[in-house]
Amino acid sequence: MTCRVRSLMVLALILVLTHGCAKTPETQRHAFFAVGTLVEITVFDPPENISEALRATEVALLAEEQRWRAWGNGELAEVNRRLSAGDTVELDAALLAGINRARDIAARSRGHFNPAIGRVVEAWGFNSEERPVGPPPTDQTLVTLLPPPSLNALRRDDNGHWITDDSRLWIDMGAFAKGLAVETAIETLQANGVRNAIVNAGGDLKTIGRHGERAWRIGVRHPRGNGVLAALEALDNESVFTSGDYERFFEWKGERFHHVIDPATARPARGVTSVTIVHADAALADAAATALFVAGANDWQATARALGIDKAMLVLDDGRVMLTPDMQSRITFEDMKMNVEVIAP
Ligand code: AMP
Ligand code: MG
Repeated sequence: MTCRVRSLMVLALILVLTHGCAKTPETQRHAFFAVGTLVEITVFDPPENISEALRATEVALLAEEQRWRAWGNGELAEVNRRLSAGDTVELDAALLAGINRARDIAARSRGHFNPAIGRVVEAWGFNSEERPVGPPPTDQTLVTLLPPPSLNALRRDDNGHWITDDSRLWIDMGAFAKGLAVETAIETLQANGVRNAIVNAGGDLKTIGRHGERAWRIGVRHPRGNGVLAALEALDNESVFTSGDYERFFEWKGERFHHVIDPATARPARGVTSVTIVHADAALADAAATALFVAGANDWQATARALGIDKAMLVLDDGRVMLTPDMQSRITFEDMKMNVEVIAP
């Protein structure tokens, strides 16, 4: 072997090694089941400690799931059982903070978001982890649950313990807890040095940073079929949450009964098939998607105003799409011929 050939081989080896070691930005993914769905975390340009960061995030999300489970063996389930038995309870800082935030949002939601309607949710069978099958509850059953209590039914007694005078109070954070969990996941990633990431919990998500040269690209699911309704680019610190009638439902005698309940009627809200909200705060986006779904075509603008939401989109059951100007400027529809109405909130 000549000296020249040998030096070329050495050079080639060095090139391969330096290429292998070069810190080119990369994407790392991690998926697991938590908060009732598949959670996918995608990190761009991960820090050295990415494995610990992802493990800490998974642990934090599983703790959120355990905290907010409203039936069975969750922390909130135990609180609910004791409250409805007339007992006093202690609320730890995390439970109290979440419940207080939910109560504030509920108070501004024009009655559409009410996390105190667990008994109604239970009457429809949407509390179960199994797929609900019906039948729908009878009118007599629903009448006993109307009007439902609000979170204001939770009060402190003279000793500072929590108690309720309304035995129908059953706290269900199902419309809000995923937002809280996604916030927790993002905070945990950031505390571990992650700067660019997306936490996607079954289509509800929050992004930080960018995917290198470009923003994170998001698809919004079409409420009918499995296709994509629209695409949008999520900026740094942005959450995209959707409430849809396709997520949990059963059919009974040809009619679809889904899991988003109008607190005014104790029945599934009518007229809307999905609502998508974009907002920095994932918990608010989650609650607002549910609230605007219940508000429907006539009251969604007032509800969006009351909640401070400027990016909202509703798909109605007749196929019409209503959205705010700020949402329109961020979204691209797959089908350019969609019947779209742009309405200021
Ligand atoms: P989401 O998918 O975020 O709209 O949440 C729906 C879940 O929240 C349901 O499965 C119920 O557990 C609960 N829920 C249903 N209707 C309401 C409502 N109007 N306000 C608050 N929580 C609700
Ligand atoms: Mg929600």
